[in-house]
Amino acid sequence: SLSDRLGGVFERLRGRGALNEGDVRTAMREVRIALLEADVALPVARDFVDKVTEQAIGQQVLRSVTPGQQVVKIVHDALVDMLGSDTAELEIGVTPPAVIMLVGLQGSGKTTTTAKLAKLLAKAQGKKVMMASLDVNRPAAQEQLAVLGTQTEVTTLPIVAGQQPVDIAKRALSAAKLQGFDVLMLDTAGRLHVDQALMDEMKAVADIANPAEILLVVDSLTGQDAVNVASSFSEQVPLTGVILTRMDGDARGGAALSMRAVTGKPIKFAGVGEKLDAIEPFHPKRVAGRILGMGDVVSLVERAAEAIQQEDAERMASRLAKGQFDMNDLRAQLAQMRRMGGLGALAGMIPGMKKAQAAMASGAVDEKILLRMDAMITSMTPKERAKPELLNAKRKIRIAKGSGTTVQDVNKLLKMHQEMQTAMKRLKKMGGLKGMLGMLG
Ligand code: GDP
Ligand code: MG
Repeated sequence: SLSDRLGGVFERLRGRGALNEGDVRTAMREVRIALLEADVALPVARDFVDKVTEQAIGQQVLRSVTPGQQVVKIVHDALVDMLGSDTAELEIGVTPPAVIMLVGLQGSGKTTTTAKLAKLLAKAQGKKVMMASLDVNRPAAQEQLAVLGTQTEVTTLPIVAGQQPVDIAKRALSAAKLQGFDVLMLDTAGRLHVDQALMDEMKAVADIANPAEILLVVDSLTGQDAVNVASSFSEQVPLTGVILTRMDGDARGGAALSMRAVTGKPIKFAGVGEKLDAIEPFHPKRVAGRILGMGDVVSLVERAAEAIQQEDAERMASRLAKGQFDMNDLRAQLAQMRRMGGLGALAGMIPGMKKAQAAMASGAVDEKILLRMDAMITSMTPKERAKPELLNAKRKIRIAKGSGTTVQDVNKLLKMHQEMQTAMKRLKKMGGLKGMLGMLG
């Protein structure tokens, strides 16, 4: 996956403060490859990478995640932002009938999507919907829509043989007006490739029907050609949105980014199957994940970042990197255990720490015990806290008296500290806390 590849790129970056330009650029080459593999059109991938590179350079390296994961997160967030900052609602609050016109290449899924949307509007929103096919090129195209109308129980305009698209559109409009329909869906003809005859016909219909929505229907498997399709259509008619079909297949979602970049219009729906209810609102996060091919990495990153309270984590991380763990660190951990009801955020993540916790739990960890431990540490001198090995029998007696505990209690505390310190040393050999989190991703 992308985050695996980025992991290598950022290996050298550990311990540095900020993402530097050279490393980010190297990482962005990997991002660009991932985008192209996901079928994002070349110029779109290039622009996107340039934009995100600027954003990423100079950002502080979070201590709680690896730089590779952090860059994936920056790229992911930028993708989501770009794919989905607009609402996906249909704008049909006009004087009825609201006309929705679907355009696109032949086979992109216009007719199927017309029926899906009609069903959605009729069944889920209680709209009175009429459908009309303006496709006079493909044999039986109008009959195809009539069949879908029967299946979805949505009215279709009666077929009149020999009529041209503009005339069918006029007839549909007056029928919808006269019969009080809320919505009129116009399914148009497509060609295998963009051509001027198709565009002229489409423009003439748009002039007559004055649609509230002109939706470009695009097969999500359309690869590098997506840019040409999108720009040709959007130059000719004022598109209001895009619908991506066949998102149920193995499309990697790149067409979505290309569409969004070229048309500047929101992707309103995704077709996810041949059945007539296989349509859903477009999910930017899901698609961003698909494009990066990274499954759950982002949620993992987010969880890691939350789990470790930033302040504690940063302080701990730098000490752990040196294999240090003194009484001050133990005290910080105890305070955190108190806050979090028995389990320190770090403790759960570090092997060996669990054992120390269990040792502690043998005396049944409750608030009182944690407070007593805190009292013992308070009774130590700063030197003793930094160097617990100074604690001889005489000093232990003094600490026990000062904290209202026994020498036995002090010994238990020291034993626990010892075990945690051992765990830290082991952790250091494994590359520190950041190494651990890296392994999770
Ligand atoms: P048109 O030429 O643009 O009108 O395309 P059609 O609506 O006739 O669809 C062409 C084919 O694509 C049909 O077999 C549809 O069942 C299929 N299709 C349309 N949308 C989807 C989709 O979202 N998923 C899948 N798997 N197939 C789809
Ligand atoms: Mg069709």
